[in-house]
Amino acid sequence: MPSKEELKRKVCEAIERRTDALIEIGETIRHHPELGFKEFKTAALVAKTFEQIRVPHRTGLAVTGVKAELKGANPGPTLALLGELDALVVSGHPLADPATGAAHACGHNAQVTAVLGATMALLDTGAMEHLSGRIVPFAVPAEEYGDIAWRLEQVRAGKLEFLGGKPELIRHGHFDDVDMAMLIHTSSRAEDKSAGVAASNNGCVVKTVRYIGKAAHAGSSPHLGINALYAANLALSAINALRETFQERDTIRVHPVITQGGRQVNVIPGEVHLETYVRGKSVQAIMDANMKVDRALRAGALAMGAQVEITTLPGYMPLSNHTELAQVFRSNAEEIVGAERYITQGHRTGSTDMGDISQIMPAVQGYMSGASGTGHGADFMISDPRFAYTAQAQVLAMSAIELLHGDAAPARELLRNYKPPMTRAEYLAFQRGINKTEEYDGSK
Ligand SMILES: [Zn+2]
Ligand SMILES: [Zn+2]
Repeated sequence: MPSKEELKRKVCEAIERRTDALIEIGETIRHHPELGFKEFKTAALVAKTFEQIRVPHRTGLAVTGVKAELKGANPGPTLALLGELDALVVSGHPLADPATGAAHACGHNAQVTAVLGATMALLDTGAMEHLSGRIVPFAVPAEEYGDIAWRLEQVRAGKLEFLGGKPELIRHGHFDDVDMAMLIHTSSRAEDKSAGVAASNNGCVVKTVRYIGKAAHAGSSPHLGINALYAANLALSAINALRETFQERDTIRVHPVITQGGRQVNVIPGEVHLETYVRGKSVQAIMDANMKVDRALRAGALAMGAQVEITTLPGYMPLSNHTELAQVFRSNAEEIVGAERYITQGHRTGSTDMGDISQIMPAVQGYMSGASGTGHGADFMISDPRFAYTAQAQVLAMSAIELLHGDAAPARELLRNYKPPMTRAEYLAFQRGINKTEEYDGSK
């Protein structure tokens, strides 16, 4: 049997040989960005690629997910290699889809390419014959939590329950046959160096808020109206005043937007809509800040005598990267980028549904460079296509070999010592418990 090191070298060479094809896949996805749960063209490209390399796979999971399977020579643990399919709306991005505004300003196109590249290399080299267990290359939908009004319509139509891709996949049982998961996210930040892992990420809940006032003639009889926009403004001021009560250690982020602020300038706004996340480092910190935000939202309605309907939706759980999986990512990433270009980071304040996965199984989200500009910004681009589309693939393939080589002893050991923070059932019950709508009447 070839050694771990030999196999790793072979998959890296196989990916090098596939460089042109991988760059083409990555750039094709980048030029055809699609929003979450609508990634039909991207999913079709993934499925077509799996067909070309003859990998059994299932499509249409949580609307657009594509899940493949590579079997080792012997039974053993299952490792999922995840790549996110979706783009997000970024105004002014040069590659934004003119119809939807979607742009790959988070680099998910490179993640999907990496999963395909790793799959190709594991097959090209016959590596699976020397591994135990299974590898599940998995293109997953809708990591970016946006397009909320449309997603809520899908919920009402019974097509979705949760608004994020991985929660939906968990709900449908598509992670039931997976023991651990790895994802590599592209980074454009210089401080992230060429590769690294953070200790953790914020989780969040998501809120949609509707103020109902009373429309009236804005010039002749404003005294007959109830200004829903002013009620919302007061609530936003109250949220801002509460920021001094948020403690640094909880890394709370509250960032409301007004999605409907009034429709006709000579009418007192009778209905105004807000959306916000409430993010934090722990579930307890999020729920505490969320309680304060609810109080602030009611205060705006109370002052103006308006009504407010506050809907709180399950968001994403805090991400806790599994220490040993992170170590596997690290040692293999360092082989590609060198130890001096690797960085171990602390806590990050963004949120991701990798957090949800990390509540129910060992999971790691690494970062690798290859992009420039601002994440979620109009200037985000893949600046080093060769690195962005091949180095992540190499690290995924090498990590899989590391964990599953021979009798998959490292993976078995890691799982033996692991107890998930939540079972799948506990996770689903927790997220379902977040879901609530409160109606508050400020006129009483
Ligand atoms: Zn993003
Ligand atoms: Zn992202």
